[in-house]
Amino acid sequence: MENAACWVMTECPRGRILRESLEALSVGLSFQKQYGMETVVLWTGLPPEEAQLEYLASLGVKRIIRLEGAGEEGENEDALLFGLHELYLRHKPQYVLFGAGPMSLSLAPRLAALLDVGYVAGATYLRRVGDTLSLTRPLMQGALSEVLRFLPPTRGMASLYPRAFDAPNPAGSPPAERLMPEIHPLPEPKGRPRNPEIVKRALEAAEALDVEDADVVVAGGKGMGSEENFALLEDLARCVGGAVAASRIAVDLGWAPKERLVGQTGKKVFPELYIACGISGAHQHQAGMKGARHILAVNTDPQAPIFQIATWSVLGDAPQVVSEMVRRLRE
Ligand SMILES: Cc1cc2nc3c(=O)[nH]c(=O)nc-3n(C[C@H](O)[C@H](O)[C@H](O)COP(=O)(O)OP(=O)(O)OC[C@H]3O[C@@H](n4cnc5c(N)ncnc54)[C@H](O)[C@@H]3O)c2cc1C
Repeated sequence: MENAACWVMTECPRGRILRESLEALSVGLSFQKQYGMETVVLWTGLPPEEAQLEYLASLGVKRIIRLEGAGEEGENEDALLFGLHELYLRHKPQYVLFGAGPMSLSLAPRLAALLDVGYVAGATYLRRVGDTLSLTRPLMQGALSEVLRFLPPTRGMASLYPRAFDAPNPAGSPPAERLMPEIHPLPEPKGRPRNPEIVKRALEAAEALDVEDADVVVAGGKGMGSEENFALLEDLARCVGGAVAASRIAVDLGWAPKERLVGQTGKKVFPELYIACGISGAHQHQAGMKGARHILAVNTDPQAPIFQIATWSVLGDAPQVVSEMVRRLRE
């Protein structure tokens, strides 16, 4: 029987739900509240622990389906693809939502194409208009936005723009009923995981201290000069118990994952200390970090705009200064 349900695909490397998946869950739960749709969590990887189940139940989740057999980190994308295909045809949920986690972004368009269902990537706003769903997404790095609608019979899939939504809040007192995952076995995984790089990135995302949560952020830009030099920032971050962030150019050069981007199109951070290494301080970068309490900037150009907002300025070669800081801190 067809079902007015909204499925939310979650990525759970090391048994922890990625923040990106929680953002998608937040939208799913708002559909449950506003439109009376059932939110169904699709769980991948190791079985959820009791604390996770209690947490999901406290958010208002009433149904969870564990996709079993995609590997410990939910890494076998093909098993997920064909298993979800089968599950979708059986239940026909109205919407399937994906966060901006690495596996989701790879899986979602493939699943939509396999099912021949409408798919919108990078949505920032979703709402029902009559019996259709209207989705907004940014274009040209946020300079424009477009509004799309799933046409009746209005089934569709969407992935969300990272950080466009908050993680959900517990909905009052926890329910008395225990959440029991239903198990859906996936087809046998064949061969190696399709994309080991995605698994690596999901694990990194799960393990790294989030730049938004860190008291000290060590950020690098093009002035770090190379990927090897950029890796020095990890050493510094470890010494000070901080997280590594990056400018747009550093992300585009592949020195850091996009989850580390700070700025207008990246994350907004408000740490006690922001250490900007080889970053010019373009206003799009400043949009994400000028709320830091203290800013230490290292740059070779005395005219660099970052010096105008810095608490402390160091005129010098960033890789050298960072190495020296690490050496002294270790001492
Ligand atoms: C719509 C839009 C949105 C954007 N959103 C973002 C965003 O969210 N975040 C973001 O960061 N950018 C964003 N940008 C890009 C932004 O405009 C800049 O291009 C980017 O921030 C520059 O990165 P950078 O400082 O690493 O590089 P550059 O501007 O090239 O600066 C490199 C700096 O390193 C210094 N340098 C060179 N060698 C050394 C050395 N050996 N030691 C020390 N310093 C050295 C240079 O003097 C220079 O100041 C956006 C742009 C647009 C158009």
